[in-house]
Amino acid sequence: MDKVVIITGASRGIGAATAKLLAARGYAVGVNYRTHVRQADEVVAQIVATGGQAVALQADVSIEADVMRLFDEAERALGPVTHLVNNAGVLFTQSRLVDIDLERFNRVLQVNLISCFLGCREAARRLPSGGAIVNLSSVAARLGAPFEYIDYAASKGAIESLTKGLATELAGQGIRVNAVSPGLIYTDIHADGGEPGRVDRVGPTLPMKRGGQPEEVASAIAWLLSEEASYVTGSIIDVAGGR
Ligand code: NAP
Repeated sequence: MDKVVIITGASRGIGAATAKLLAARGYAVGVNYRTHVRQADEVVAQIVATGGQAVALQADVSIEADVMRLFDEAERALGPVTHLVNNAGVLFTQSRLVDIDLERFNRVLQVNLISCFLGCREAARRLPSGGAIVNLSSVAARLGAPFEYIDYAASKGAIESLTKGLATELAGQGIRVNAVSPGLIYTDIHADGGEPGRVDRVGPTLPMKRGGQPEEVASAIAWLLSEEASYVTGSIIDVAGGR
């Protein structure tokens, strides 16, 4: 089977690291982005320069029509999609729950959870036997992210439920569904929360005394997608330095 993967939110951070790793392992990669076309093009250029195959695909994955178009365009450019990484995610300024308005809560659910539902549904319709899906959760799902972003934590908790349920529904079709749950990883997302230095502040308090790199999350994603994880489905793997 020729391996074709769509990675949502692959222009930066964990998604970009995953795109480069999977390309090096022989996947043709659909590098999805929402607005940062230059970064997405740079990820594609790096993959192509090292002999891999990739294409940048704009889509806002919180929008149903965009997700359908994303799969169609990936198939036209790369061939039938066999794997999916639902990675796109957002969080907003650190706040207590009492200060979170409904518009923000809805936006977090739309980008993190609804996008995951839409991607999973499209993948369930299209992936062949032997295909696999990895969803991005967060340790926030079990910690709750009090005083920071309970909305984000709740969206990730729901992603874990979705992962377990769909894994059971698709097991008979030979499609595996798992999630990776990162802890504190060095990416731009913490600046969106209002604290760009968050990983350096909190990292030393973790059992491993440091934050993680996007490549360390990408390794877990790549393993779950691979045949090496052929008997693993419905699992949530922490990549969180022991927290
Ligand atoms: P990041 O560096 O902020 O990158 C976010 C990516 O998502 C970008 O490529 C962005 O595209 C894309 N994106 C955002 N909204 C989108 C939308 N509506 N449609 C399509 N793409 C969209 O984030 P990250 O830290 O790598 O996080 C990746 C995933 O890991 C997220 O699900 C996050 O919740 C999870 N995670 C991260 C950490 C951490 O510490 N970093 C910890 C736990 C879980 P543009 O570049 O076009 O904006």
